[in-house]
Order: sequence, then structure tokens, then C-alpha cells
Amino acid sequence: MAPVDPHSYTDGAHPVTKHAALSFYLDFTASTIHASALLTLSEPHSGDLLLDTRAVSVHSATTAADPPEPILFSLAASPDPILGSALTLTLPPDTTSFHLTFSTSPDASALQWLAPPQTASAQPFVFSQCQSIHARSIFPCHDTPAARITFSLLLNVPSQLSAVAAARHVGRRDPLPSDHCGACDEALWCAPGRVVEEFEMEQPVPPYLFAFAAGGIGSRDLGPRTRVYAEGGDKVLDEAAREFAGVEDMVKVGEDLFGPYEWERFDLLVLPPSFPYGGMENPRMVFLTPTVIKGDASGAQVVAHELAHSWTGNLITNKTNEDFWLNEGFTTYAERRIVEVVQGEERAALNMGIGWRGLNQMMERFKDNMEFTKLKPKMAGIDPDDVYSEVPYEKGFQFLWRIERQIGRPAFDEFIKKYIAMFKFQSIDTETFLEFLKANVPGIENQIDLHLWVEGTGIPPDAMEPDSAIYKKICSLAAEFKSGKLPSEDEVADWNGQEWELYLENLPTDVEASQVTALDERYKLSESRDYEVKVAFLQLAISAGCKCYFNEVEKCLKQVGRMKYLRPLYSSLAKCSGEEKMLAQRIFSEAQEFYHPIARGVAESILSKHS
Ligand SMILES: [Zn+2]
Repeated sequence: MAPVDPHSYTDGAHPVTKHAALSFYLDFTASTIHASALLTLSEPHSGDLLLDTRAVSVHSATTAADPPEPILFSLAASPDPILGSALTLTLPPDTTSFHLTFSTSPDASALQWLAPPQTASAQPFVFSQCQSIHARSIFPCHDTPAARITFSLLLNVPSQLSAVAAARHVGRRDPLPSDHCGACDEALWCAPGRVVEEFEMEQPVPPYLFAFAAGGIGSRDLGPRTRVYAEGGDKVLDEAAREFAGVEDMVKVGEDLFGPYEWERFDLLVLPPSFPYGGMENPRMVFLTPTVIKGDASGAQVVAHELAHSWTGNLITNKTNEDFWLNEGFTTYAERRIVEVVQGEERAALNMGIGWRGLNQMMERFKDNMEFTKLKPKMAGIDPDDVYSEVPYEKGFQFLWRIERQIGRPAFDEFIKKYIAMFKFQSIDTETFLEFLKANVPGIENQIDLHLWVEGTGIPPDAMEPDSAIYKKICSLAAEFKSGKLPSEDEVADWNGQEWELYLENLPTDVEASQVTALDERYKLSESRDYEVKVAFLQLAISAGCKCYFNEVEKCLKQVGRMKYLRPLYSSLAKCSGEEKMLAQRIFSEAQEFYHPIARGVAESILSKHS
């Protein structure tokens, strides 16, 4: 066995899947997908082949020959809590493709099934979130970003629903008897009231970028290659279309900076509020939390981040989760370059300041486990969802910014374009990046301690706090809070969400409850429509012991399942003794059904750590 990835059973001595032809029958009543997959390998193989699965029931494995021959298979009896269960197939000589039928579990970690009362459209809804290692809970696969696949996908759904996927939409049509490939009975597949939505992904992607959703979904065109999708009807779509009106221009900015946009379309899907992330960079169709629609076009920043992934992350992908910074550090850098062009230098500097503050907070979070302050941490035996943090984003950003300062922006821009052109549609590791850097920027290793940046813990001494007038002003106002000074109406007159977020996050940690309530009485932060502001404020209020905000905290935890908000709120409550901890446990027990399985797992692990 030659493992290629600490988070996959994929054996490096064997060929990997290069194409998957998938037929999915979506059973909303049972929260289950009945499925078939025809998997094609990169080269012929005989004997054992290992695939990743989690909580999938495999019904059959056969050769792709006509007539098909059964293939021996076995699923590991007791699943590994992080990796799931290896599916071992014993392939006949020179097998290049084989056929599986299987069903997902109602608890599949990638999927959230919402009942009509839980959705804005009063229709059932399902969506997937496969990063980091959840694709295996939808279909057996080599679930490592090292193994890129192309795929075709048939989604059989009730005809009152629409389906979308991170792939080219081929069409919507009646189900054909030839479609189901054993996913379910032909009578079920072709039953009246069902339609098939067909998709094709011709560009090879890592399995974590496999994505689809189905529900009462409508859409609005934004530009020639951009469209926004959402459930919830005209009002939501109009709001979303307004918020994201600038997206087409942003794609052009991205192309100027990083080279051609290779994915043809850049569509956006606004998900129900339980979506666990801010955004997920699924190619051709970014998935977004509805909290980015704030009514002031500031949601553009999350979109800038997901758009930037079209080059860094989706074109060039980290080989394993240990190299995650290659995805997120590069994308954070690229996002800020896009923001700088679209919204100006000051806005980019604010964004960097919030990131700098976040990076420093992570040093505190991981002070007993500094491994996770490394750019390239050791991840064997670690669940990536448990240690997900801003470190790969912000330390990665700082590393690239440091290189930019060393060689100057024009040279760094050339370097990035060359890097993207060189490695596009490949999955690479940190060492490959460093070799490319040293080859293209001769002597860089004598000017920057590359080893310290990549392997060292903590924040290197040559990292830099952003330097801008507005950033400094906000930090100094925050420092004055300790002595009882609130910012004046004039000082905050043109602040929007990010200014407040930066201010709140820079406040001293040991403030008085009375000061916190005074701040809120004046500026109504606990009622902000911007969840970044609201959550930063509520976190402060919990730490200061303001029990009067418990209601607001509860509402917030029950309305939005984005992990960026669940993590700090549950952690702040659970860290306290007595009443707050009990409150956290009660809210979780009442809200957990509303959370996506990934978010539920993360909240659970926070509560158990502090129990
Ligand atoms: Zn990202």
C-alpha cells in the first residue's frame, strides 16, 4: 500500500478513476440517493482496487462488459471515524471500467435534505458540500484532490423541482429506460412526475468540487456568462441580482490579473441559510450563503474570493489537505487583488486588516497545538473539518505578499501568471510550488526564509500588518474603548460592515458589560443585518458576560448555519461556566436538525471539548 493522501484509501501503486458516469435517483421522502456509477480508470488494472466511501450501501459491482460479470467486493466492516470505509474491489484482468450500484445514507455527510417547511419555496431541497472529504458519502471514489475526474451526471428529480450542478447543463427531459443503469427500478426511474436533468463536466476536477443542488430554484441573468440562482421566488432573486450586478466585470478583472477564465460560465447559487460556508468555489457554479446578500453590494467580496478560486484552487489544486494553503493562501491573495481593482486600495487594506487580526486570533486558538499554525501541517489522523482555520488563508496570503514585496509587484504578477499557465488542471504539493519559485526567482531562498514560512509555527517576523490610514484609525479607536471612549457619530458616519467588524475584533478582550451595552444602545450592532457585525458583537457580549443578549444569540444560532458564525458563538458560550454552557447545549439540541451535517459535527466537537 502506497498512500497518496492521509485522508484517502487511494493506493498510489494503483491507477485512479479518471471519469465517472453517474445516474442519481433523488428520493426526497427517504433523504436517499439511489445511484449507479460507471467508473473508468486511468489505465487497465487487475486485482485489488480501493475506493473511499462513507456510509454508502453498495448493492452490486460488475464489469462493464456485455453481459456484465460480477466483481467481488467488500466494504470495511467498521468505518474509520475520519476516513469512512474502504471499498475493496477485486478486478478481473485488465479492467479499465466497472459498474457500481449503491445508495447513500440519510446521514450522508455531504448532503443536506431540507423538508418543505425548512425552505423559502415550500418545496423540498437538497444540496451537497463535498470539501474536504465528503464526496465519498455520495459515491465511491478516489476521494483525494490528487485524482482529478471528469464526470457526467443524470439527476432524476420530481418535475416541480429544478436541479443545478457544478458542470455544463446539457438539458432537462423525460427519463429514459436506458438512463437508470440500475440506480433503481425502471418503473421508479421513469414514473410520471419525474424529470431528468443532465450535466457534463469535461474538465478534470478534484472530487471535492463535485456539487449539485435540487429544489424550487429560479434564476436571473447577470451578464453574458453569469447568472444567479436561488430558491425563494422573485423577491430573493431580485435582491440577489442587485447584490451581484458587478460580477461580470469582476470576471474581467480576474482575467486581466490571472489569465483566461477557463470554465466558460461563472454562475452563482444562493443556498438556504443552513449552508455551512460563506461560499464554496464549485466550478462554473459557486455556492453561496444567503448572508452575503446584505443589500449594499459588499457580498461582492465573498464572490471575489470564490471567483479567484477559478484560477487558484480549481485550476491548480492542492495535492492533499496538507497543502491546503496552496488553494486558500493564493486565493486570499488573488481575492484582495480583485477587490483592490473593483473597490479600491482602502477596501483591500481593510480586508487585509481583518485577516491579520484573524491570523493572530488563530495563534491563540492553536496555542496548545502549534502544528496547525504551520503552512504545511501534518494531517494524518486529523479530521480537516476539526482544524479548519484562517491559518492557510491568512498565513498563506502573508507568505505570498512577502514574496511580492521582495521582488516587486510587476515581477510577482508575471510569476503568478506563469505559475497558473504551468500547472493548470494539475494537483500539486507545496514542494512543487517551492521548486517552481526558486527556479523562476533565482536567489529567493537567500532573501526569504522559505523553510521558516512553510515548516515553522507561528507568524514569521517578516509578516506585515497592513498599513493604511483607515485601518490605523479604526485600530486606535478600538484601543480607546478601554478608557471608556465610544467612537463618535462623526467618526463612524461612513462605516459599513467591514469597518465595524474590524473595530469590534480589535476591542480589548476584558471590557465591562456596561460598556458593551452602551456601545449597542448607540449603534444597534446586535440588530445589524450584516451577520459579520452582528456575530462579532454578540461574541464580545458573551465574553463580557452580558446576559441580555442571550435571546439574540439563540435567534442567530437557529437562523444561520454558516460555520464562521457557529464556531465563535458556540465556543464563547461553551468556554464560560454555568448558564452560558447550558444555553449552548440547549440551543444545539434544538437547532442541530437545521444544520448541515458538517456544521453539526463541528458544533458538536466544540461542545464536547468544553463539556
Ligand atoms: Zn477559499
